[in-house]
Amino acid sequence: MSLQPTTVPARFFETHKSGKIRCTLCPMHCLIGEGDDGACGTRRVTNGVLEAVNYGLVVSAGIDPIEKKPLYHFHPGSAVLSFGGIGCNMKCIHCQNASISTPRLTRMSDPLKGNELPWTPESVVQAGIDRKADGIAFTYNEPTIWFEWAYDVSKLAKEKGLYTVFVTNAYIEQEPLDEIGPYVDAYAADLKGWGEDFYMKFSKVPRWERILNAIDRARNVHNMHVEITTNVVPGWNDDDDSLKNIAEWIVKTIGPLTVWHVSRFIPHHELSHLEPTLPETLLKARQTGLDAGLKHVMIGNMHGMEGVENSSCPSCGSESIVRTGYYTKLTGLDGSKCSKCGAETGIVA
Ligand code: SF4
Repeated sequence: MSLQPTTVPARFFETHKSGKIRCTLCPMHCLIGEGDDGACGTRRVTNGVLEAVNYGLVVSAGIDPIEKKPLYHFHPGSAVLSFGGIGCNMKCIHCQNASISTPRLTRMSDPLKGNELPWTPESVVQAGIDRKADGIAFTYNEPTIWFEWAYDVSKLAKEKGLYTVFVTNAYIEQEPLDEIGPYVDAYAADLKGWGEDFYMKFSKVPRWERILNAIDRARNVHNMHVEITTNVVPGWNDDDDSLKNIAEWIVKTIGPLTVWHVSRFIPHHELSHLEPTLPETLLKARQTGLDAGLKHVMIGNMHGMEGVENSSCPSCGSESIVRTGYYTKLTGLDGSKCSKCGAETGIVA
């Protein structure tokens, strides 16, 4: 593996009239002074230039079933080589990955200590080919803040015939999304709740409407396969209005064949004091999605709950995919169509 610098010039910034640097990669729009860093802890101003300090800095990697992203209707049963780095542009109070999302690379004297050497795009793609993976995923932490590296890796991966996946909070500005969009095949996006007030309190970020814009463009401009996940957190986003708003927006904007994953919350981080989501709340969320017109609403983190793990034809109801945990069996598909009635399923097989 050849050595790459972990620090590269960052993309997407402008000089503010104050002399500081405005980062325009994500809607946080950090205004950063000389020697300081942005909220995600991966971008720092040095000599008047914004640097990304996380190029190729991988802290976790492994082969996963694609279902684990979660993506249930994108090459079901395939294997994806998955990479995670450090930092996040949100500060969610329920974060399940706080050990890697909260440290700040910009404050570490030796970010490489204890980690592997930086991964080059070539070494990533070769690792995928060697391990017989079908694709590459940027996951575990937020890939938007890994933009420079994710862009180079995605472009090369597609040249070599691997698919690419972003597992993301979708908190990205339009220009960077449009730049990387042609090289991303699937967008496993969180829609954590509904409204500015929710996102300000729950994820501590402003301008939440940019999330809707990013998911919309991922699907409708860049033709990515999009699935949406909402972790249903008691007292935060499990009310009827929040669930209905999310479900209706997905139907209207992304389409009724979109998979909506409503997943069980496990007490964590600043919300360790809460109880896990009740099964009946998840069933209510699922019914809300179905009532809104969604054809595929899956309950996550509740393996074994009857009738929520398999996929069925949206037209005739016959089984398309059977899942047991992460074991997947295609049972009724002819390409993306139902093998029984010929209806379009929305599944990229
Ligand atoms: S990417 Fe990081 S530095 Fe840039 S605006 Fe977002 S949080 Fe701030």
